[in-house]
Amino acid sequence: MPGGSTSVTGFWSPGVPVSEPPLLELAGIGRSFRAGSSTTHSLRDISFNIRRGEFVGIIGPSGAGKSTLLNILGLLDSPTAGAYRFDGVDITDLGENDRDRVRNEKIGFIFQDSHTLVDETAAENVSLPLKIRGATMGERRRVARTELRRLGLGHRQGEAALNLSGGERQRVAIARAISTHPALVLADEPTGSLDSASSAHVIDELRALNTTGTTVVIITHDRAIADRTDRCIELLDGRVAADPSVDSRAETWTAARAKPDSAAAWVDAPASAPALEKRRGSTCARFGRRLLAEAFDAISAHTANLGRTVLLLAAFSLGVGGLVCAMGVSQSAASQVSDQLTQAGLDEVVAQVSASGIQLQDFDSDSPLPTHRTVTELQGVIGAAYAARVQTADARPRLLRAMPAARFDGDILVAGPAYLAIQNAVVWPTNAGRLLSNTWHGAVAILGKDAAAAIGVADAGPGVRIWIADQPVDVVGLITAPGRTPLLSNTILLSPEAAVGLAPEDARLIVRTAPGMPAAVADALPPAISPGNPPAVTVETVADLRQLRHGVSADLGILIALVSALLLLLACLTSAVAMYLSVRSRRPEIALRRAIGASRASIWRLFTVEGLTVGLGGGVAGAALGLMAVVTVCAVQQWTPVLDLRIVFVGIGIGAASGIVSAVYPATAAARSNPALAIRA
Ligand code: ADP
Repeated sequence: MPGGSTSVTGFWSPGVPVSEPPLLELAGIGRSFRAGSSTTHSLRDISFNIRRGEFVGIIGPSGAGKSTLLNILGLLDSPTAGAYRFDGVDITDLGENDRDRVRNEKIGFIFQDSHTLVDETAAENVSLPLKIRGATMGERRRVARTELRRLGLGHRQGEAALNLSGGERQRVAIARAISTHPALVLADEPTGSLDSASSAHVIDELRALNTTGTTVVIITHDRAIADRTDRCIELLDGRVAADPSVDSRAETWTAARAKPDSAAAWVDAPASAPALEKRRGSTCARFGRRLLAEAFDAISAHTANLGRTVLLLAAFSLGVGGLVCAMGVSQSAASQVSDQLTQAGLDEVVAQVSASGIQLQDFDSDSPLPTHRTVTELQGVIGAAYAARVQTADARPRLLRAMPAARFDGDILVAGPAYLAIQNAVVWPTNAGRLLSNTWHGAVAILGKDAAAAIGVADAGPGVRIWIADQPVDVVGLITAPGRTPLLSNTILLSPEAAVGLAPEDARLIVRTAPGMPAAVADALPPAISPGNPPAVTVETVADLRQLRHGVSADLGILIALVSALLLLLACLTSAVAMYLSVRSRRPEIALRRAIGASRASIWRLFTVEGLTVGLGGGVAGAALGLMAVVTVCAVQQWTPVLDLRIVFVGIGIGAASGIVSAVYPATAAARSNPALAIRA
């Protein structure tokens, strides 16, 4: 091994051969931090070796650089000067993934705070490094059981870390650190938060661990702890102030560092990678197990914070539910309109007649205009009825004369009983339609249900009266079923007498034909209605109606989809914020995972899978909610619901995609976090 020291130093376990190269070799290590124009030199020219099996203390006052040194020894940070060789491999040139691997396989960390995952059991905490490594469930259980028993916690395996005492948690942290049988255990103030009895216990455990051949380095500011180690290196102002093992100072091996394939040597050198050989199964299977374990971790993060998860699920399900509802309702509406128009296209023709020549007093199909008779005599015509629309602004419908006009946005039509009959509308009382005929010479109205509600009319019959254009009008009936034209629910039908003084806006002749006859009737209508000037009559053809259908469904769909997309965007934002806050609150956990070897990619996946699962859950719940909303809306509107199951899959897909999108930034932030800084946060 190039540059490896073979000198006898006296600080290694009796079983370790003298010729074995040091486990750690530091030569002229420096670490400085730049903040703006100033530079802090936390470590300067640190050189020492630590042999396998040593039990070393690193002591120094606060600010001496102990934690900075630990971060470098533990590959959580890189030196800005000098060279560091771990187990014979130059670390300085090692890529990030290889460093993660070295940490996972060769180093066990114990921190001042145990950094146990409080919602997980003691056994799960202990086996975390093995999980990151992709070990099988059986192996993880076996190792956790053995290590916890070794530390006297065999009876607490299934206990959540939350319920363990501080001393017990620190013993769990020791078990976690040694679960992978690392070559080096680094302990940073491991007794800092413990009472003296627990402290002594922890140091005893570390001593016992050392007797099995594991190299242990304890960082402390406590002289009593340091005195219990075999060799105590003192740091002061970032320099080694005292080291009893001066002989073990690193020989100059800077020349050896230049070797370009030092990183590859890590993997190639069989002596330095025994742990690799111990791994079970193919790389592929291990990766699969790792992914599975990450997915489980992501899901258990949801159960650990139920309140947050429920809120996120609600946000996503609202967004997705809105979209599914939008799609379902617009499809149902389109199909409804389509059905009506297809039906109308088969047996209905509508002629627009110039309103100027028509007197409303004459406007009643029960005392037909001459043209009406001509039309009904045309071949294929079953019936015909006129309806003239008057301006709502002129009519100013209201319940009491003294009241302001009602907020009514429907149509006001002057029509006779024939119009109600041709629309198949049902009126209550059943004979009320007859009263619209001007042979009664009464100013009467029949109201659709929605129109009645808008004006404030609850019932129809003697004494019920509304005001149209400042004239009293008796309400003689209500439309209970609008028949072929749903718009009739929001329509006021007036007798000609009730519309005296109102100018007709347009007049329409609705012609019902025998099935399949509309085209022929459409051609014959203009000359029949207006022999002198046929072009004055506009006939709405089936093609016009079809265009209208597309217009209606497209507009409705776009509107609802826009609102839902906005909802979903809000859900994404809410989730991203919640996820980001969760990333911040879980910084110690993320740092721990990184410290024990989880790669940045693995941390990124963890949070992305969290986003994906919550989005997916929200998507499923939203799809169910959306479908229920479609059924409810259709029931209220008396439409036949169109439930296209593809919408459900689209909704779930959109939920999952939104979940991932919302997690990308928080996941990236988590993956980028520096474990050396976060572990101390
Ligand atoms: P100890 O662990 O012995 O208390 P540290 O290693 O934490 O000491 O710090 C040594 C010196 O390095 C201190 O002056 C500290 O302010 C500085 N230092 C440590 N980490 C950083 C950092 N990330 N940025 C800037 N200065 C740092």
